[in-house]
Amino acid sequence: MKFCKRCLYSEAHPLGIVIDSEGICSGCRIHEEKDKLDWNYRWNKLKKIVSEYRCKSGNNYDCIVPVTGGNDSYYIVWLVKEKLKLNPLLVNYNKFYNTPLGIRNLANLRIHFNCDIIYQNVNPLSVKKITRETLRRFGSIYWHILAGHSVFPVQTSVRFKIPLIIWGAHQGLEQVGMFSHEHEVEMTRRYREDHDLFMACPTRLKTPFNTINDNDLWNYLYPDDFDLNIVGTRGIYLGNFVRWDPKAQHELMIKNCSYKTSQFSRTFDCYDYVDCYNYMNLHDLLKLYKHGYSKVTDHATREIRHKRITKENALKLVKKYEQKPVLFLSKFCNWLGINEKSLQFILNQHRNKKYWIQKTPNSWVFNGWSNLNRNSKSLNDSKNELEKSFEINDSIDNQKTSNYITIGKGYP
Ligand SMILES: [Zn+2]
Repeated sequence: MKFCKRCLYSEAHPLGIVIDSEGICSGCRIHEEKDKLDWNYRWNKLKKIVSEYRCKSGNNYDCIVPVTGGNDSYYIVWLVKEKLKLNPLLVNYNKFYNTPLGIRNLANLRIHFNCDIIYQNVNPLSVKKITRETLRRFGSIYWHILAGHSVFPVQTSVRFKIPLIIWGAHQGLEQVGMFSHEHEVEMTRRYREDHDLFMACPTRLKTPFNTINDNDLWNYLYPDDFDLNIVGTRGIYLGNFVRWDPKAQHELMIKNCSYKTSQFSRTFDCYDYVDCYNYMNLHDLLKLYKHGYSKVTDHATREIRHKRITKENALKLVKKYEQKPVLFLSKFCNWLGINEKSLQFILNQHRNKKYWIQKTPNSWVFNGWSNLNRNSKSLNDSKNELEKSFEINDSIDNQKTSNYITIGKGYP
């Protein structure tokens, strides 16, 4: 397997990566643009684009901003509201695997920035039916969240006649350099289906072997072109106009807007995904089973590209974290109505034979990216400088609830 000489990605990256004649991957090449582009010019370009969408009559919102209680939501809203001086409608798709910390962060977000927000709560019966199917078929417990988070803002655009949707960074650009910043790529139905939904558009979930029907799926359908064209729906990515650096951005938000963070078992980054019990746990384990690497590789690669860690130390970090225990499994099993043994049986079906060798029925040997990459060494348990620089100021399970908080309003 061919690896990038600079970062930890291999050509087997599920989003597709190209390694050039010098051995550097497309993700690292596009990242170089961050230190070359004129970001002042790009910011002014963004200001011009959004100026056309300002609601002149004052009786509607200027734009839609999809948010969660984690990731880059604070920074995005900060840019939109405080820097671009727009009046956004925040929208949130309820992912069900909510942590108390995520609910707190989301409540604080709308209060701090004084924004209106709409929550989409799809009924739990449909969500569970869909999750059983996508877990069995694609090894994904996140399909409904990716589908809901990527489509609810678009539906809201059509319903409320707010044409502009503002997203943070584009994953395909940030990770694998699928596009240049200068392409100014925008939101499309095609990217959503090909990459966010694993080529599985919602209607493909209906089969003669399950009870999923149209009533379960309509919330996940992309509006048709006719409706999109009438409103003029358009989704832009701030990462094309602002030099994107999630670590620095989160630290600014911790300092100025009281964003709360949490330690995780399986990565050193304590800023992303604090709103979800599963993203850095069960979902991360499935990533390791299916793709031979986990989120800590993404985090470490991002840190290499921002020149905050060497490749050698980054690989040590990956080795330190990627086999760490998965937490909160019993919460998931309670929620889905499945026992842990059956869950493990389904999980094993999704182990990629390229990266996992079965020795006996219950024992597997891992031979994933971190093993195949040259120079791989283990690290002891003491924290290195980069790990220490991440600020932990709370904990995702700070209320020790036994079940997910399906709906939580947070403070005031
Ligand atoms: Zn690379």
